[in-house]
Amino acid sequence: MKALVADSLNEKGIEKLQKVCDVVVDTSITPEELLETINEYDAILVRSRTKVTKEVIEKAENLKIIARAGVGVDNIDVAAATEKGIMVVNAPESTTITVAEHTMGLILSAIRKIAVADESTKAGKWEKKRFMGMELKGKTLGVIGMGRIGSQVVKRCQAFEMDAIAYDPYLPPHVAEDMGVKLYEEQDDVLKRADIITIHVPLTEETRHSISTEEFKIMKDTALIFNAARGGVIDEDALYTALKEGEISGAGLDVYEDEPAKENKLFELDNIVCTPHIAASTKEAQAAAAVIVANEVIDCFEGNTPNNIINMPRIDTSGFSQTTEYLEVCEKLGSFLTQYVKKNPIKELNITYKGEITKLQNKELFKRTILQGVLNPITESPVSAVNATSVAESRGITIKEAEAEESDGYETLIEVKAITEKGVSSVEGTFLHEVTITKINGYKVDVKPEGYMFIAKYKDIPGSIGAIGTIFGQEKINIGIMQVGRDITGGEAIMVLTLDTEATPDVTNKVKELDQVKDATGINLL
Ligand code: NAD
Repeated sequence: MKALVADSLNEKGIEKLQKVCDVVVDTSITPEELLETINEYDAILVRSRTKVTKEVIEKAENLKIIARAGVGVDNIDVAAATEKGIMVVNAPESTTITVAEHTMGLILSAIRKIAVADESTKAGKWEKKRFMGMELKGKTLGVIGMGRIGSQVVKRCQAFEMDAIAYDPYLPPHVAEDMGVKLYEEQDDVLKRADIITIHVPLTEETRHSISTEEFKIMKDTALIFNAARGGVIDEDALYTALKEGEISGAGLDVYEDEPAKENKLFELDNIVCTPHIAASTKEAQAAAAVIVANEVIDCFEGNTPNNIINMPRIDTSGFSQTTEYLEVCEKLGSFLTQYVKKNPIKELNITYKGEITKLQNKELFKRTILQGVLNPITESPVSAVNATSVAESRGITIKEAEAEESDGYETLIEVKAITEKGVSSVEGTFLHEVTITKINGYKVDVKPEGYMFIAKYKDIPGSIGAIGTIFGQEKINIGIMQVGRDITGGEAIMVLTLDTEATPDVTNKVKELDQVKDATGINLL
């Protein structure tokens, strides 16, 4: 076997690789040279410099694995690799400790005003009175996003004798409890109680500007906020006002809405500590990334399954002619369901395959694709059919599969039930020229899961449908398709809408406030 190390990789990783294969280190290889030589290699290891494009992958007749010594895989054409059956692996855990430690650095620097005191002292000012600090002991840490990094920050803050509370709607409560962290169902409950707020969420539609003007208003005026996750989670204009007006007392940022952040009005303020997106930059993190990916390449060469494969394996589905279509059904059903159960962590997923699909012996790919749909909207690293089960396991989600011959007259049907602390939600779908949802929570419907959707549960009494429709009219949101279903006359009914524009949380809340409405959810399947 032969591996190409195309970007500078820590020696420890290279040494590991050299024990099992020929290693060529060429960290200045040009795109043209890569195209010419890639055919010689079984593995390529990169950081962010080398672009592993579709053209490169097409020429790579022997390539088995592309390894990214880091997290993001923007420089790799994962779809092209998947199509060619080449594994793509990364090292998402390599920076966890490093980023958690940097977060501690920002926190300590801000509360003890170390950066400004350093500047003043070196200028010969000796301003002892100006730099009154604050202790961490006994204070409340509020973590937004208790994943890999968030939990490590908790551990470190607990060593400082802080109390920890958190908001992470996708985390099973027992995981937080085991760490001695009180988990709240609403972000606001954390924001109003915390002395130190630290953000560790991915940047998603849901988290973009999730800390903005209203959120700053409910924080304590003594609170400090830190973001070493992703620029854009905090609304920087709102942060500027909050810091300037004294709505909060301080902040620390490693990430910005626009990077490189060479100019930013936040830099005028002396109650914010700023670093240039270096939270992940330590020798140890680089060494860890190199060792992790080297081990993954070795696993691949030895026929074992690497831990962090992020693309899809080849699983034999030749017994079922509609594999591509039903993989799309699975992805859509998963994505719909995770948004439909809203912020309630899923404890168990029950998948039932009905009809033709049951003839296929190995349905693993369909299960994994459902999980991919469920998990992708809520996780930072890409979840693919390959890593979906391990990500689900780490989130404490149990998966049960069943089969049924009866398929309500459809050739194939797939039903997915999500069990949460709050109850059971289900969705069932098929492929009729396109992905079609046939049932939601047992109610028969016939909708295409795409674009913006809105689901409401309401009392089946005169005026309910009109009242909901009126709110959309008032908010100037055009309804494309409306479908209603009910169990018994006068009982509970469900309304499914497709919308031309998104039902904002504000509109959803207005619908929820109607007496006859039991629940309402906006869903984005764009
Ligand atoms: P992770 O996937 O392990 O954890 C993210 C957590 O956020 C998950 O537990 C998830 O359930 C939670 N979450 C998702 N949506 C949420 C929401 N709307 N509200 C609250 N919680 C939500 O990721 P990680 O490895 O811990 O990384 C966390 C962040 O740090 C990511 O944004 C990552 O890009 C960033 N990061 C930054 C640097 C840097 O250089 N500054 C380096 C590495 C990672």
